[in-house]
Amino acid sequence: MGIDLLTVFYIAASVTFILGLKMLSNPATARRGNLIAAGGMTLAIIGTIFLYKNEGSPLHNLGWIFLGIFIGGLIGTMTARKVKMTAMPEMVSLFNGMGGACAALISLLEFEHLFEANRSEGLSSFSGLVQPGFYLTIVTGVIIGTVSFAGSIIAWGKLSGNVKDIVFRGQHLTNILFLALVLAAAIYTYQTDLDEAHIYFFITAGLAFFYGILFVLPIGGADMPVVISLLNSFTGVAAACGGFLYNNKAMLTGGILVGSAGTLLTIMMCKAMNRSLLNVLIGSFGASASSSAENMEQGSYKSISLSDAAMVMAYSQKVLIVPGYGLAVAQAQYACHELEKLLTEKGVDVKYAIHPVAGRMPGHMNVLLAEADVSYDLLLEMEQANEEFPATDVVLVLGANDVVNPAAKKDPSSPIYGMPILDVELAKTCIVNKRSMKPGYAGIENALFFQPRTSMLFGDAKKVLQNLIGEIRVL
Ligand code: NDP
Repeated sequence: MGIDLLTVFYIAASVTFILGLKMLSNPATARRGNLIAAGGMTLAIIGTIFLYKNEGSPLHNLGWIFLGIFIGGLIGTMTARKVKMTAMPEMVSLFNGMGGACAALISLLEFEHLFEANRSEGLSSFSGLVQPGFYLTIVTGVIIGTVSFAGSIIAWGKLSGNVKDIVFRGQHLTNILFLALVLAAAIYTYQTDLDEAHIYFFITAGLAFFYGILFVLPIGGADMPVVISLLNSFTGVAAACGGFLYNNKAMLTGGILVGSAGTLLTIMMCKAMNRSLLNVLIGSFGASASSSAENMEQGSYKSISLSDAAMVMAYSQKVLIVPGYGLAVAQAQYACHELEKLLTEKGVDVKYAIHPVAGRMPGHMNVLLAEADVSYDLLLEMEQANEEFPATDVVLVLGANDVVNPAAKKDPSSPIYGMPILDVELAKTCIVNKRSMKPGYAGIENALFFQPRTSMLFGDAKKVLQNLIGEIRVL
């Protein structure tokens, strides 16, 4: 009876995960979707703690379990409350790494159980007692979970600017060699005698850890969104392995959902960047970025005053706003929405052009603008926006750089060559707001800033927008 009720809990939890995921695809329902899925997860945890029976006996160590939940819950809540919106991607990476570590630890523990069971049975190797499929699940969980943990920690360091892209000669060969070593150690563990297997399983995990680091180290610049969603899908697969091991349906469904959603997102990100996954993984984007920036010939740029910018926008018919990472840094989404409303009141047609990798996490700009209650109908996807730029009077680029860099289309030597961009240069006038002439995330110069139709409006996005609003009000 207990198990039956637990199955009902798990199915209910799985349904909430699917519903939650579906609702996350629209900003209007995303918050509710998140809460529903979190409710389902709570149900699954409560069910596991109170209804799960292992060979007839309930879970022990409830005190430790609740202490762990309390400490984890407290740290998670405090971090999520304190984190700045711009540091969200780092936090997502870190939490994803923790998920990978959990999945790897589950597999390590199960291995230890098997090891003890084999020893008490007096068997000399694993293959005598453990089915290959079961061992495969354990070892896959530990390898993928560890790779995801180590890779996510490196990605976290890169996003926060503490870890630089590292590229060296023969790197891809080294990575392939490491991967081969991981697989060889995993196979050897299964075949060898018990005591050696114990050591080799940990060697497998250790090699996977180094592989995770090596695998993410060379990837940088504009390719980071792809690697982040790839690591996310890894964690899902590793968690699904844990679900198999414990015959836990909620964990299995959750893992499969994260794994498949992450894989789909990876494919979509690759499409958005116009790169194949293989190219991302071995392309070493970051490596050539700085040399390309150094080789770039700089022309001269012109600045525009606040009053002139206000005038140009207030008297145009159509304005497209291009938000980027700088808008998030400045937390200027509210001021941006205010400017949009003010211009709309003056009869200007205002919309937003959203690049899929603008900001520092997939959907960053959608989340940011939804926070300020910007209507979803006003957001144009890249393809739609590119059709509208030629008929646009003013494009206001707010803290965006890489996603409007024409080098992606025109300069085959550029590391971002081939990445689709927002064609802002097709508009009649382009006003770019940023604080300086410094490059964006990919570390490369942007020829857009030096084009005749472009004017630079320097300053922090929030202050500039507030001043623009003031200027337009008195026109
Ligand atoms: P970029 O990082 O290319 O450029 C942001 C610009 O904002 C900078 O040039 C900076 O210039 C400016 N800026 C910073 N702070 C402020 C401020 N307070 N006020 C005004 N401007 C400011 O951003 P994009 O959004 O154009 O491109 C995103 C990049 O990040 C892409 O290369 C993408 O691949 C990468 N990426 C994206 C992820 C994702 O999932 N979306 C994940 C990881 C990386 P200045 O310092 O002069 O002000």
